[in-house]
Amino acid sequence: MKTMNKTRLLVLLSIIFLVLSACRPDIAVQNEATQPTPVVREGGSTHQKAAMQPSPEPEPTPTPEPIKVRALLWEENPQIPIINFHGFTPRRYDEETGTVMYLWNFQSIIKRLYDAGYSLISIRDYLDGRIVVPEGRKPLVLSVDDAYFANQLALNEEGMPSKLSGIGWLYYFAQENPDFGYEVAMFANFGDKLYGNMFLYDWWYLGDNWEIDFAKTIVWGMEHNVVPYNHLYQHPDLEKISELEIHPQIEKNDSTLRYFLKLADREDLIEHLPNAIALPYGKWPKQQSGKDILLSYVNQEGKALEAVFEAGYEYEPGMSLSPLDEDFDPFHIPRMAPINKIVRFIVDSAPKVPSAKSCELTLPHDADQNDLNTLQTAIQEAVQNQVCSNGFYIIEKHIFKAHDGVVQLWQKPLNQTKAEN
Ligand SMILES: [Zn+2]
Repeated sequence: MKTMNKTRLLVLLSIIFLVLSACRPDIAVQNEATQPTPVVREGGSTHQKAAMQPSPEPEPTPTPEPIKVRALLWEENPQIPIINFHGFTPRRYDEETGTVMYLWNFQSIIKRLYDAGYSLISIRDYLDGRIVVPEGRKPLVLSVDDAYFANQLALNEEGMPSKLSGIGWLYYFAQENPDFGYEVAMFANFGDKLYGNMFLYDWWYLGDNWEIDFAKTIVWGMEHNVVPYNHLYQHPDLEKISELEIHPQIEKNDSTLRYFLKLADREDLIEHLPNAIALPYGKWPKQQSGKDILLSYVNQEGKALEAVFEAGYEYEPGMSLSPLDEDFDPFHIPRMAPINKIVRFIVDSAPKVPSAKSCELTLPHDADQNDLNTLQTAIQEAVQNQVCSNGFYIIEKHIFKAHDGVVQLWQKPLNQTKAEN
């Protein structure tokens, strides 16, 4: 940290020196050019003045300011815990199970993760390698399985999220703590449940027109970074069902989601839907032929399967790799259920997990700051001048990799875009 500060100070001093020394010639030129003027002012007659008038004071040439661009920098490959919650209950008399957690336990887990320095990133950004969190913080992916139950996300009569639903409460937490962020993946089964749209005292019950209320909840989520993903239509155990059922279980879940979006008159959201699956029970089909059916799934819009999220890694706790890592496998992404042991593991690992750093790049004053070559050169200079280290630089949607002093635009490796199990 100390060396970083020294480096920054040195950079700042050199910038000030450069700006000052750049100014000097201008000042000198200006003095020469303006020298005759005082003579005129002091002793000249009106006539003389008129004769001397043709040399007006030239406009001082402003020194062009270089453009500064702040890049997010991962000096080490980010490591990302991915957790999967299930249901929540605000009722004290309910019992906690493997899939139901007291709302206040969820709240305390979120606060602990936040205090440990984690911030949420979306699965979209995660899969694209765009691992962006505020400087000094660490990425975390939060998913909710078996969605949507009202206890996971419900809207109140004003159309705002209910604080008694887990992800609804999280919305207000994120409003108070904007550096935590609000990004949630809902792995949904649309074919095994009804959605409670009527809240009575402390719970949600099935009321009239539940479908439209449910559709509105999905839409509110999509407008606020709570994104539906595929957890298959009826939560089948893929080890047990016939191979003939695999494709329909995936496809029917997708078409039902599209049905709800149409019901809410929001077909426009369909093109933004991702295509990623979380395996029910974390189980793959037994045979390779069954796995191939799953991996070759293409959704209604022609989007190939991007990722498969697994489950059950709480027995072997570990961080997930990001696509920036050469060993990343998008079709076997581990997730952990947030049992006590896992929350402790994530919190205790925080001091060792890389944090986001930043690097201020200097671009020529007339540069196009969206130009990839310009950005690449600026990173190259920052690394060569030891202003910033090697690592991954993220600027807007662009990612650059600086390694051994060589800077290249980073692109998703081909094996991450094609299923090849
Ligand atoms: Zn599940």
